[in-house]
Amino acid sequence: MIPRTLFSAEHETFRDSVRRFMAEEVAPHDERWQEQGFADKEVWRKAGANGFLCPTMPEAYGGSGADKLYSVILFEEQARANNSSLGFGLHSEIVAPYLLNYGSEALRKRYLPKMASGEMIGAIAMSEPGAGSDLQAVKTSAVRRGDVFVLNGSKTFITNGWNCDLVIVVAKTDPAKGAKGTSLLVVDTTMKGFSKGKRLKKLGLKGQDTAELFFDNVEVPAENLVGQENNGFIYLMQELPWERLQIAIAAAAKCEAALEWTRDYVNERKAFGKPIASFQNTRFKLAELATETQIARVFVDRCIALLMAKGLDTATASMAKYWVTELEGKVMDECVQLHGGYGFMWEFPIARAYADARVQRIYGGTNEIMKEVISRSLGLSQEK
Ligand SMILES: Cc1cc2nc3c(=O)[nH]c(=O)nc-3n(C[C@H](O)[C@H](O)[C@H](O)COP(=O)(O)OP(=O)(O)OC[C@H]3O[C@@H](n4cnc5c(N)ncnc54)[C@H](O)[C@@H]3O)c2cc1C
Repeated sequence: MIPRTLFSAEHETFRDSVRRFMAEEVAPHDERWQEQGFADKEVWRKAGANGFLCPTMPEAYGGSGADKLYSVILFEEQARANNSSLGFGLHSEIVAPYLLNYGSEALRKRYLPKMASGEMIGAIAMSEPGAGSDLQAVKTSAVRRGDVFVLNGSKTFITNGWNCDLVIVVAKTDPAKGAKGTSLLVVDTTMKGFSKGKRLKKLGLKGQDTAELFFDNVEVPAENLVGQENNGFIYLMQELPWERLQIAIAAAAKCEAALEWTRDYVNERKAFGKPIASFQNTRFKLAELATETQIARVFVDRCIALLMAKGLDTATASMAKYWVTELEGKVMDECVQLHGGYGFMWEFPIARAYADARVQRIYGGTNEIMKEVISRSLGLSQEK
């Protein structure tokens, strides 16, 4: 296999501690979290105490000022542990960066230290019942009245939606201007008029609290505006390369983990007096999947290196998101097949990984939208 060259000895020590945390503090509770549909808040505080939340935030805001490779390790180890109950990535690597990069000093000081310690859980609310891929169609409105924005609307499919304490809400502040009339507002979930709907029952990610959120004349102080009014869409676009790469990072790690589980299984399981591993079909299938997973690994690592050098563009990140999540779907499907009936049983990690993989092609921008973005970088004629 091609050796990875991104990580230092310090990174690997950190990886060991994340792996231990997943084994000791996460795995023993995960079945219960899947049954109840959300992870206990206590695990957030434990993760915070260990420096596993918002690691790249500056120390002044409660983080460790670490480089993004530490975030990469957190994604990889959660994937390898086959855990999908914890919305740490969205909290640390999507919500917190908006506050750090575009929020006022007051907003950073108020929220980031509590997010880093796990006292407050963050969510981001873009999608609505009638608007997902087409964010310009967002209907949630924020009308300025003196010192407040009056927020009305509803959001759906929100990760961390049940546990969250703060939500960055995408709202129209000037509906006539479409995308150019969009703003980001921080809603504290204690604000009057805010409510959480039901936790949504899902095909996978069963321990993750995906929920609906409602805003009924919520008076959001104007100081909770993130950055400039009507600039929200620009901020959302600027963060896309990292957000899309996060999904590819988890997908590549999940493919590697699935291949390990499947190798162990086919070596152990016998049919017709021989290990399943000895059949040519098994060996060829695993050879194919291992080859494609290696290609994914090299591509994702190169994207990570580019990101670290601030050179990853949105089209390339979209290629990673699209291609590696498609591969994830294929790897999980083939690996379920190699497990036979046991692959369909929830107690086998491959069954859960199969279910969890499906959404990777849908959220974070669907893979069709990824192809739209990629195609725009190809110099194709737009004439009709
Ligand atoms: C588990 C989960 C967690 C999520 N977490 C969050 C979250 O935390 N915050 C948040 O805001 N959202 C979240 N989402 C929402 C997610 O981002 C959207 O589901 C996704 O962007 C797709 O939007 P949609 O569901 O409205 O599908 P639609 O936009 O209705 O798309 C339906 C189909 O049409 C296709 N399509 C749409 N437009 C085009 C086009 N121009 N060309 C070709 N095909 C097109 C799509 O690719 C898709 O196949 C989450 C979703 C899930 C399932």
